[in-house]
Amino acid sequence: MVPSGAAAALRAGTAACVAGSDADAIRRIPTDMTGLKTEVIIQKTHRYGYDHAVRNCGVNMVEVETAADLERAVSKRTAMMLFFNANNNDGKIKDEEFVTLGKKYGIPTFNDAAADSLPMENLFKRTKMGFDLVTFSGGKGIRGPQSAGLLLGRRDLIHAARMNTSPNGDTVGRGNKVNKEELVGMLAAVES
Ligand SMILES: *Cc1c(COP(=O)(O)O)cnc(C)c1O
Repeated sequence: MVPSGAAAALRAGTAACVAGSDADAIRRIPTDMTGLKTEVIIQKTHRYGYDHAVRNCGVNMVEVETAADLERAVSKRTAMMLFFNANNNDGKIKDEEFVTLGKKYGIPTFNDAAADSLPMENLFKRTKMGFDLVTFSGGKGIRGPQSAGLLLGRRDLIHAARMNTSPNGDTVGRGNKVNKEELVGMLAAVES
């Protein structure tokens, strides 16, 4: 899907992991999290200035360092596992192991690769690796529209992400509107 940037993708993707396509849950986040999953696991070295876009879905970040920490941190409250692509080498858990751990516990993994892209094979590298969601910013390496981006991944999660954002009203992402020129611009950037 084409979100209004990678930060909007982080929000829509997190909302998808928390509320899915459930209309009532979609309406309630972030102020009434009753019965919803409220934790996102992240490596300490992957904390960054964009995770507010995740937290504004009503979740808290749970920091871990090792794979053993991560396995201890997993619980019924875990909604998602977030990975910051550019910091792959700074964390003890590298991308492939992170995906394996997500699959082991059935928790969706989200790779923020916003600043990455060229060559174009990189666009699908992380979804092929097994990440459930991957985002790119439109105006960085892809050289597309500044106020657009890409959110790629599992069909059911992309469907849910779209339900949680504009043009659907009463959603956490309603403010993240994308105009049709940007949609087409993003397509052109991917094709060229
Ligand atoms: C730039 C960036 C974002 C935000 O991207 P926008 O498309 O401007 O919303 C998110 N995450 C990372 C890692 C970034 O570098």
